[in-house]
Amino acid sequence: MLRKSFFTTLLLITNCLVQAQQKIDYQKLKKLAYSDSARLVNIFKGIHQYPELAFTEARTSEIVAKDLTALGYNVMTGIGKTGVVGILKNGEGPIVVYRADMDCNAVKETTGLPYASTKMVERDGVEVPVMHACGHDAHTTWMLGIAKIMVALKDQWKGTLVMVGQPAEEIVSGAKAMSAEMYEKGVPEPDYLLGMHTAPVPVGFYVNVPGYRMAGADILDVTFYGIGGHGSAPQEAIDPIVMSANAILQYQTIISRNIDPQSAAVITVGAVQAGTDNNVIPASSDLKLNLRWFSSSDRDFMLDGIKRINEGLAMANNLPKDLYPKMDMIQSVSSLKNDTAMVKKVNKALEAMVGPGRNLTNFPPVMGSEDFHYLVMPLKRQVYDYFFVGVANPTDFQEARKQGKQFPFFNHNGNFKVDLSAIPYYDYLGAGALLEMFQK
Ligand SMILES: [Zn+2]
Ligand SMILES: [Zn+2]
Repeated sequence: MLRKSFFTTLLLITNCLVQAQQKIDYQKLKKLAYSDSARLVNIFKGIHQYPELAFTEARTSEIVAKDLTALGYNVMTGIGKTGVVGILKNGEGPIVVYRADMDCNAVKETTGLPYASTKMVERDGVEVPVMHACGHDAHTTWMLGIAKIMVALKDQWKGTLVMVGQPAEEIVSGAKAMSAEMYEKGVPEPDYLLGMHTAPVPVGFYVNVPGYRMAGADILDVTFYGIGGHGSAPQEAIDPIVMSANAILQYQTIISRNIDPQSAAVITVGAVQAGTDNNVIPASSDLKLNLRWFSSSDRDFMLDGIKRINEGLAMANNLPKDLYPKMDMIQSVSSLKNDTAMVKKVNKALEAMVGPGRNLTNFPPVMGSEDFHYLVMPLKRQVYDYFFVGVANPTDFQEARKQGKQFPFFNHNGNFKVDLSAIPYYDYLGAGALLEMFQK
């Protein structure tokens, strides 16, 4: 009796161990992703043909809301204007948010694809062409595919899954708008936040690395004031255009002479607006600046440096204090820093699915910015992983390399193309990564 119960217990323990190790059935997962491919490609083409700019994603969010509702998710719409949240409770376990952004770009599509966008929309009184040139159409499609898989594989995970269809990433405002509302409206605070972004490397390769991956950014305006006057009599005026020109050059010394060369940072003056006539010295001059950085101390140093240069120029030009230059911060977003333990966990799953050598760990952090992490920024717990996935056709990629180009196209270019093989591939990988976050 004792012997029997000992062996029964041993068998039970062994079974439990085997079950724990085989909890995620990748074969079944792959089958589910690929058998859903035709439906998802259809959804993708549909969204691609009807791109919607930031905070106008009415049609896209309706597609997301309808699909998630049909799958049994508890759906909330109109979060942060056009955002959608779908919640699926499946017992006790971690709370994981999966995010897809839904907005497009004011870019004219030049891919020549049969499902290319020809849409024009009015923005600020001007007609502009629009296109999904950043792959957010694929992001949204993957989320819908993953949402379906998570329902089908409910027996392989326990916890609460929150699907987020986010508006307005391109103006880095949508995540802030959503997180300001969704937790107050009852969305549970997540233990983990996961997301994927398209990159112009071949399908089959991804970049999932811990630490800083995307830069922080500031958009700010600087106004120089002077004393306007006749172009022939500079002695009677104080010229804000000359001060601006000096400032533009001096700003660059903050990067070249003050910031640690090992630490990447950028100051770009993207617009200079001053004056109207050849023979008039204007009373003011506007500069539109864009900063990029990884560490917040570099950011503080740049902002402080810009202020010191501005005021130094005002002082050198003998301006009264009330005419000192003004700085207006328009928009700011912090750098994106992937959680080390979470990246490790996700990579374990990705490698189990597609084998080793697919993670392009040498891919450097990008100076572009994201608002993904702002979905958890107001919370105490900010554990996230955002990884890049290759969507370029492998032959196109090789061809581009032969021609000496680094990529066949880049995000935000009119030729940006998501190869259709990427649709089921990252439905599979995204679902696998997500399932892993529910494992102990
Ligand atoms: Zn973009
Ligand atoms: Zn994007």
